[in-house]
Amino acid sequence: MSAVLSAHGVGVRIEGRAILAEVDLEVRPGEVVALVGPNGAGKSTLLGVLSGDVDPTEGHVELRGRKIAKHSAKELSRERGVQLQKQGLAFGFRVEEVVRMGRSPWYRTPASDRDEEVVEASLERADVTEMAQRLFPTLSGGEQARTSFARLLAQETPLMFLDEPTAALDIRHQEQLLSVVREAAAAGAAVVVVLHDLSLAAAYADRVCVLAGGRLHADGPPAEVLTGELLTEVYAHPVDVLHHDGRLVVVPVRPRGGPTAATTTDEEASCSAV
Ligand code: ADP
Ligand code: MG
Repeated sequence: MSAVLSAHGVGVRIEGRAILAEVDLEVRPGEVVALVGPNGAGKSTLLGVLSGDVDPTEGHVELRGRKIAKHSAKELSRERGVQLQKQGLAFGFRVEEVVRMGRSPWYRTPASDRDEEVVEASLERADVTEMAQRLFPTLSGGEQARTSFARLLAQETPLMFLDEPTAALDIRHQEQLLSVVREAAAAGAAVVVVLHDLSLAAAYADRVCVLAGGRLHADGPPAEVLTGELLTEVYAHPVDVLHHDGRLVVVPVRPRGGPTAATTTDEEASCSAV
């Protein structure tokens, strides 16, 4: 299937410093693309450029074959939804109201007939129905992230961008969120998701793009991209890639001994070093 979104030679330079350089990337409908890389690699900046929120200083992004900068704000709001890394504070708003904001692009269109049903389903899929009447700023970080995810779902866009949506989530909600993301892709959405957990990327993404120092170091299926050699280089820390139950599991190599050495046996210490 042809790409819905493509980046061509994208670069971002701020105050003379290259934050992103020479990034070429394509995203197709039905695909989940994980964007990974160390802190400061340029992941959030690239997500901003791909979603049309940040203007690149070099190159351009095309949405459905037309430069993204040429699309109106209204068109963009119906084409792509973004879950930012930092949650807005949304003072005074209840969870349900925050999620309902996701419907605003569809105001005065036939799709608005489905507002109630979509808001309800989105609250459910992000597991925030129980807290629908709570004030957003009183929620925990993970609950706020799930509410932002529900708002993104309510927007019902064919393109979805998520910046570290699982960072504050417990293990069950991490799995739930990425399962829902996969369902959205199965229904035809194109998804770009920034993840730090490389095992989650391996399990849920069709493709993994590794960004480091503002450049794309690799772009391909998880099994090809997530190798100990590449990750050790990119993260400047020794990393092992294990095979478990047909999946890749990425773990940091830890020195034998270390802080727990005094209370663990040699055998336990070697387990924790895997
Ligand atoms: P990541 O999301 O991969 O951690 P970012 O895209 O947020 O990285 O940032 C990449 C680099 O660019 C970082 O070093 C960050 O400090 C810098 N940066 C991002 N935005 C700005 C800005 N508006 N002004 C100056 N530096 C910025
Ligand atoms: Mg970031």
